[in-house]
Amino acid sequence: MEGLFHEDLAALSDLDEQSLLESLSQRFKQDRIYTYIGDILVAINPFKYLPLYVKEVSERYKYHEKSKLPPHIFAVADRAYQSMMGRLATGRRNQCIVISGESGAGKTESTKLLLRQIMELCRANSQLEQQILQVNPLLEAFGNAQTVMNDNSSRFGKYIQLRFHNSSVKGAKINEYLLEKSRVVHQDEGERNFHIFYCMLAGISPDDKDMYGLLDPTQYRYLNGRYGSEDIVRKWGEKYSEVCNAMDMVGFQEQGQFGVQEEELLRSLTCTLSVTRGEAIRRLHNQQQAEDARDSIAKVAYGRVFGWIVSKVNELLAPNVDFDVELTEIGILDIFGFENFAVNRFEQLCINLANEQLQYFFNHHIFLMEQNEYKEEGIEWETISFKDNKPILDLILTKPIGILSLLDEQSAFPQASDRDFVDKLNSKFKSSPHYEVVRSRSPLFTVVHYAGKVQYNGGGFLEMNRDTIPASIRDLFINSVTPLLSVLFAATISRTGTLMPRKAKVMQKADDNFNSTRKQSVGAQFKHSLAVLMEKMFVASPHFVRCIKPNGNKLPDQVDNKRVMDQLRYNGLLETIRIRRDGFSWRPSFKEFAQRYNILLIKPDLPLTKESCLSILNTTEIHGWKCGSSRLFFKYWHQEELSRLLERL
Ligand code: ATP
Ligand code: MG
Repeated sequence: MEGLFHEDLAALSDLDEQSLLESLSQRFKQDRIYTYIGDILVAINPFKYLPLYVKEVSERYKYHEKSKLPPHIFAVADRAYQSMMGRLATGRRNQCIVISGESGAGKTESTKLLLRQIMELCRANSQLEQQILQVNPLLEAFGNAQTVMNDNSSRFGKYIQLRFHNSSVKGAKINEYLLEKSRVVHQDEGERNFHIFYCMLAGISPDDKDMYGLLDPTQYRYLNGRYGSEDIVRKWGEKYSEVCNAMDMVGFQEQGQFGVQEEELLRSLTCTLSVTRGEAIRRLHNQQQAEDARDSIAKVAYGRVFGWIVSKVNELLAPNVDFDVELTEIGILDIFGFENFAVNRFEQLCINLANEQLQYFFNHHIFLMEQNEYKEEGIEWETISFKDNKPILDLILTKPIGILSLLDEQSAFPQASDRDFVDKLNSKFKSSPHYEVVRSRSPLFTVVHYAGKVQYNGGGFLEMNRDTIPASIRDLFINSVTPLLSVLFAATISRTGTLMPRKAKVMQKADDNFNSTRKQSVGAQFKHSLAVLMEKMFVASPHFVRCIKPNGNKLPDQVDNKRVMDQLRYNGLLETIRIRRDGFSWRPSFKEFAQRYNILLIKPDLPLTKESCLSILNTTEIHGWKCGSSRLFFKYWHQEELSRLLERL
């Protein structure tokens, strides 16, 4: 037990915000970046290489006892895998690992480490394992970019579902959320476009460059004249071969089902860069309109290419098993953190909504479910209060009237302006405690999120929510000489991210109106995909990883106390420690418990009742558990103590 005091904050007896911060930063200074709060892992980004992930460490964490080894991200992988296999006494088999934290806190790195360790645990066959591990570099090339917050910032959210039959992985599925398409045409000061553009221009062979008509990088307005030193260009060039390699590994080349090859795909991207100021558009519009049209084409094309890559990956990694084989899942959620910039637009509202939803999920599991059960089961308990963010979710989501539904309502009127939209919000929500009216000529409004107040600029909300492209432009693409573009625009992408080719002629009419009538608004689509995600997560056993960014300078060995404190506060970590310390996180029914532990009494035919459970427990020296009316209540460490007893038999 030595050292546990520091490694598990739920074991701290004297606890306040200051001591929590102190413990974490003391540990961080000794390069102990991981700390437990009961079963929750807190991870502070070291911003430097630490020898924490080498083969030997990975081996040590396989099938380990949690309290015997220091906290680690590999321990989370182990726990999720063991639980999925039913080796730990939890009822549900599907698992989900929820990784949260602000931009640059280390979510994506944690996701990659988790994936790697889970692959180690299940000893996947080498081809499938490589395919799964290559998905990340591939998606990162197309979906990540340098921002002021993070040099490799994910500009989309993802939920990776690993699918297993018994102990072995059979395939994977990716869901992607809200790619920040506007980055293709505009980047703020100190930021860049998606990595792939730089990689491609640096890495492509001179012949191919000629063939695709690529210009010098400085010529591209979408790269904003920012290219880089020779050294950086060389790195991009190397990255380009890595991306091509990843595409090969995942299986892109051999399988080009639409007759599309790697180069075609890349070419389609460059087309959006260089050819979109096409004559057809020019003749129809004045310059501003033509420029807007060009930008909107570039955004849509890029979004569709990205969607296509994801659906292709899903096709290639779909489990190759019979329909009646039951698969279990480990899902890993790596979604953009809470954002509050100088100017916050529609995209930020969606991102912050996702974070509200995740915080709600966390609260629901850690506080609500647990405490409700104590009440129902008649367990003596002093309620721990927490910041319930349900009212904020309701403000944004609730039918018939929430911010998103008002936005949809206004988006349906062609004449409505962003000002009208914000006026409607003001009159509807002015008395809500989570909404603030902003007195300004600009269409501004403020939402009081769980993580703080965010002022949104309503300018562009209607347009972004509609996300339409004129039919004439769509036709231009359908008739494109680049087969992929033609496919992307002739097809609709379903909400699940799979491409659905247009089949029958009858569909034509409806499809022609696709961008005006049939299509759901961006807000409605996002709301739907969040709801689907939540549904999945609510029926799985959750594991939480809370990533913390130690400073705003991306530097090692630096702790900015105020920043860290802010993150601890809005993550609700202090309350979490209290409930993990005082609460009972493992709550098996009498039946579940007796079935698993009757062997301790060496009476396998014991009835599965409360009395049997009590006699089993009375033979052990385990203390601090409670008995409810239909189930037992254990502290999180009891599970391990019991497993130890089983092993000794
Ligand atoms: P975003 O929301 O912007 O995508 P994120 O939370 O996914 O941010 P990461 O990209 O995972 O952040 O991490 C940012 C950077 O921090 C990484 O590129 C890496 O340099 C560093 N980093 C993160 N975790 C670790 C780690 N465990 N060890 C060493 N460096 C790390
Ligand atoms: Mg990321």
